[in-house]
This record gives sequence, C-alpha cells and structure tokens, in this order.
Amino acid sequence: MVESWSKFKASEKIPAVWKYKCIVCGLVIEIQQKFIDMWSTFFSCPICHAGDEWWPKWPQDRVWEYLG
Ligand SMILES: [Zn+2]
Repeated sequence: MVESWSKFKASEKIPAVWKYKCIVCGLVIEIQQKFIDMWSTFFSCPICHAGDEWWPKWPQDRVWEYLG
C-alpha cells in the first residue's frame, strides 16, 4: 500500500503499479507490472528531464508523485 501523494526519486524503486505525476511539468505516467519487472526503478521525466543528470538546478530530487 502506497500513501497518497507520496513522492519518489528518479532512482527509487517503483512501489506499485499505478499512475504517477511528474511534479515539475505535470506529465502523468501509468506504470504497468511488466515495466516494474523489467526496470524496477523510476526514471527521469521524458518531457522535462527532471531527475536526470542535466537537472542541476532542481532543489530536491523527488520527481514522481503517486496519484492516490
Ligand atoms: Zn516532467
């Protein structure tokens, strides 16, 4: 069980199959079990690149919000 509005870093383990929102640009992604099986962790945002190595200005490194 994941608490609503929990936030995760791009490098963290994905806790559950569900929807997550990039807290920087608002992109909503839906993580499926097959993705977790393959990769197991989050990733940097494909739209705004929050959480990747080109994101030096981001004051905190939690990027993905669980849409509870
Ligand atoms: Zn984003």
